[in-house]
Amino acid sequence: MFKTLLTAALALAGAGACAAPANRMLLPDDVVPDAYRIAITPHASESTFDGTVEIDVRAVRRTARIVLDSADLAIERATLDDDATPATVALDAERQRATFTFAHAVAPGRHTLRIAYKGRINDQAAGLFKLQYATPAGPATSLFTMFEDSDARRFVPSWDEPARRATFDLTVTVPSALMAVGNMPVASTEPLPGGLQRVRFATTPRMSTYLLFFGLGDFERVHRDVAGVDVGVIVKRGDTAQAAYALDAAARLLPYYNQWFGTPYPLPKLDMLAGAGGSVTFGAMENWGAIFYFERDLLVDDKLATEDDRHRVFETVAHEMAHQWFGDLVTMAWWDDLWLNEGFASWMEVKATQALHPEWSAWPQKAAAREHAMGIDGRAGTHPVIMHIDDVSQTEGAFDSITYGKGSQVVRTLEDYLGEDAFRDGVRRYIARHAYGNTVTDDLWRALDEHATRPVRTIARDLTLKAGVPLIVEHDARCVDGRTEATLSQSQFGVDAARAGRWHVPVTLAVLGGGTARTVVDGPARQRVTVPGCGPLVINAGQASWLRVRYTEAGFAALSANFARLGIDDQLGLLADTQALAYAGRQPMASLMDLLRRVPAGAEPLVLQALVDQIDALDRLHDGLPTRPAFRAFARGLLQPVMARVGWHETAGESAELTSLRGSVIETLGELDDPAVVAEAGRLFKGYLADPDSLRGDLREAVLDVVAGRADGATWDTLHGLATSATSELEKASFYGWLGAARDPAQARRALALAISGEPPATVAGSMLRAIGVQHPALTLDFIDTHWPQVEPLFGAGAGATIAARFFDNGADRAMLPRLQAFVAAHVPPATRARIDKNLARIRERVDVREHRLPEADRWIAKTR
Ligand SMILES: [Zn+2]
Repeated sequence: MFKTLLTAALALAGAGACAAPANRMLLPDDVVPDAYRIAITPHASESTFDGTVEIDVRAVRRTARIVLDSADLAIERATLDDDATPATVALDAERQRATFTFAHAVAPGRHTLRIAYKGRINDQAAGLFKLQYATPAGPATSLFTMFEDSDARRFVPSWDEPARRATFDLTVTVPSALMAVGNMPVASTEPLPGGLQRVRFATTPRMSTYLLFFGLGDFERVHRDVAGVDVGVIVKRGDTAQAAYALDAAARLLPYYNQWFGTPYPLPKLDMLAGAGGSVTFGAMENWGAIFYFERDLLVDDKLATEDDRHRVFETVAHEMAHQWFGDLVTMAWWDDLWLNEGFASWMEVKATQALHPEWSAWPQKAAAREHAMGIDGRAGTHPVIMHIDDVSQTEGAFDSITYGKGSQVVRTLEDYLGEDAFRDGVRRYIARHAYGNTVTDDLWRALDEHATRPVRTIARDLTLKAGVPLIVEHDARCVDGRTEATLSQSQFGVDAARAGRWHVPVTLAVLGGGTARTVVDGPARQRVTVPGCGPLVINAGQASWLRVRYTEAGFAALSANFARLGIDDQLGLLADTQALAYAGRQPMASLMDLLRRVPAGAEPLVLQALVDQIDALDRLHDGLPTRPAFRAFARGLLQPVMARVGWHETAGESAELTSLRGSVIETLGELDDPAVVAEAGRLFKGYLADPDSLRGDLREAVLDVVAGRADGATWDTLHGLATSATSELEKASFYGWLGAARDPAQARRALALAISGEPPATVAGSMLRAIGVQHPALTLDFIDTHWPQVEPLFGAGAGATIAARFFDNGADRAMLPRLQAFVAAHVPPATRARIDKNLARIRERVDVREHRLPEADRWIAKTR
């Protein structure tokens, strides 16, 4: 699954794995499924469907009952084999289970269970759900399924656990005018009376329930044969022009993955479907052979798209396609090892992007995501990459930055340590050995270690089983006979030093103008490392390892003075580590401020982007403080030379990174009240109203950001008019988003009322609330609290409060903490409250920085002016 902002083990005949701990809420293992034959008739207008399923099962021992996962399904009749007497059915809504008890005991051996049932079509992406959108001919509806992590049970009573692989035959009875899509190609179509058709899809390979898929709508499909696979992009009628980019991306990625994984993509077709709207929890889902995306992560409209949009679409496609091997062909046995899916796919998306789009600096682009994950891993409330999960109600919490962001960085650390070829060969062994099976993380380490010259398991286990960020401390570095002798030790980065961990962590050292050396630092004892050459010493050169570095004062000064000579990864690493250590009080704020000043206006765009991000962060921390004007003057002074370099308009042949940097610099200078930028943005917006083609892509986005942020009532009305008159869903969603961006509290109140008015679609309304929450946390929280019955359905019942509570973790206002806690106590179910802990920890940390660290920065600014 691909996040917008997000796996056990049981012995299954044929797929060896270790035994599940007793407290894990798994279904009884006395009966296991082999094959499902599912028939569905959706009634979209009534939001219901009729279903029947025949499940070929094997009883391992004699039993009186069969227990299945089932949620929100009304079971009408269930029989076993030829016995006409129906089973009695007991439903446990809380545990989402149906227990079928038969008149005669179920004997060991093969049986067929037949169930007739009715289910619900949901408005949120869980189980079978609908997405509605406007067309010139009136409103239209398309249907899709979303089953990860555990919602196949809302579609079919099933053994809804990843290790319970089976084959699936899906047959659907649907309107003849619509296109039905499954995991496999259509095997037969039979016309029925009343404008209906019965569509049967070919049998799937043995796979996990959460990867099953069904989609239905007024679709068009563009497709191409790629290495013998029919690759298609499926869009709503009229959108085929926006599908070209993703189809090209998939056509390049498939041969790359076939080669890299060493096992060719095994299904006859690979579809990618675009759904209208969006979700606050995910962007795309890797259903085998039928990947679902929300439109913004798949479609590219050349008129609106920024380079960032193209990059995001390419990476999302790369991520979901990587899952076709890592996740679908080989699947984690239980959600504890979700990181095997998500960490690996998040790494592979970068690896593939680097190979196929070398101009995009794929790893440096991930610096901000890495930093975000390190931030979380340095706080209370973090968890190891391999997370203990007893019950599927805990699984949603695993779709987080540790699983995705840290997971991908751990894979990067290991690939760097083993070497590209040895790492790839190990993954090939793993995929070949476990194809159509389920695994635990140690299966991967075993495959990597088999022929490795440097065994990886100790490092890998430390990084995946122990939470936290190792801190490599430089104690000393001196030049001896043309070599640099450095003394290092390890402690832990983080606010909660009591949890001091100890890792085996690989570290690469490089002397600027000299050579490199590698070592593994394994604890607090001082270790001496010798590096060829003398000069400034970079620790974690290339930034491939999951760690932070604290230099000696002299070491830091030397790197700071030679900032322009560092590689882009190391420039980004030094900026990030210095910010984190300075905020945490482990390095002077003066070092950070001085380093920001040393970033040359001619630096790589991504490095300047990091500078912009740091300025944004400091500006938000200054919200409401009397020192903000002085900070803003200092910050404008840093960014005006950058603005002078990038200019307002794109020049032929400039890099995508420069284009997106321009947008960020304009937005931030607008936020900093830079008079020249504010005036020019206003002028360009007027031109845009007269001729919408006068602004495109990144510049359009930046100008709207500056204008929307400063909107008065009249400008807000203008933006609202643009939202209601927009013809494309993407454009509509973006204007509604802008309506939530105003700084003026009066406009924010109007946006809040609009969000729950029913005018914007639910998914767009959720994003609006998030946008308003960033600018006006207290106002938004009060509103959400007061209007909870109207707000909750926008996010989906149950998870809504957890999602909403996370909107506010950009804030640094101490007064928000008790209010947020009261909101959590009132609306978040007790079982899931722990998930908010890391968001609260993040706010607390920011409050601390604001109260204890900013004054030092402000004194530095006052002194240097
Ligand atoms: Zn994923």
